[in-house]
Amino acid sequence: MKIRVTKIALLRILIIVLVLLIAALLAAILMRNSTAAPKPTPTSAPTVNPFTTAPPTEVPTAVPTPAATPTPAPTADYAARRAEILLVNLYHRLADDYLPGDLVTVVNYITADSIRSRSGDTMIDRTTAAAANRMFEAAARDGVYGFVLTTAYRPKEFQQTLYSAEDRPVNDQGYYMVVPPFASEHRTGLAFDITNEEMVNKPDSLLDAFGQSGQGRWLAEHCWEYGFIIRYPVGKEEITRISYEPWHLRYVGVEHAMAIRASGECLEEYLGEVEPA
Ligand SMILES: [Zn+2]
Repeated sequence: MKIRVTKIALLRILIIVLVLLIAALLAAILMRNSTAAPKPTPTSAPTVNPFTTAPPTEVPTAVPTPAATPTPAPTADYAARRAEILLVNLYHRLADDYLPGDLVTVVNYITADSIRSRSGDTMIDRTTAAAANRMFEAAARDGVYGFVLTTAYRPKEFQQTLYSAEDRPVNDQGYYMVVPPFASEHRTGLAFDITNEEMVNKPDSLLDAFGQSGQGRWLAEHCWEYGFIIRYPVGKEEITRISYEPWHLRYVGVEHAMAIRASGECLEEYLGEVEPA
């Protein structure tokens, strides 16, 4: 009996303890909730006043771009140019047996009133002749007459004779005044030498002074429009290795001639074929 009572008492105590524990637990939970940071009352979203100007939007800071890779200057399509323009100089030699394709007689194909050929049998490339005739017809329309064509095509043997006759084909600066046959554009028929009636009968009919004559100035201004370039310009002797020749015109076609004029380059530069000094 005594034990039983004790058992019941123990059970009661356990129940009380349990109830107390549960109460304590509940109290702890309640306490925790009450000490927690009060939830912010939701503030109403700021109403946008349509009549006020919008606040300045923040300028997004520029995203730092990776170091810019230098854009290479547009490279000229030298290969395409070389495919269209025959380069003949001291470093780009004509083959010993080179012969031009399509030669015609100057007097039959360059018939403009502003020009005559010094020799009746001078030959020239056909396309070059047609372009030259258009050019000298334009000169006549501008009132510029008195051109004299001294030579155009020269066979290898003739160029060799000219070269061999020079005691000093190279001047004091090291620039050629007459080139050996392998380096002469005259063998191609694409080039010709031009002077005027005033100079043609002088001992040397091809003079720097031609560049300052009316005819020389007209050519320097207009030859490009007809596909010709002043092949050995002043200031480019270090590259061409040939002294200034205002009288030597070379046909390259209108597109290339205009591009060369605009670039201020000589032909070697235009073709990307400048030899290291
Ligand atoms: Zn020449």
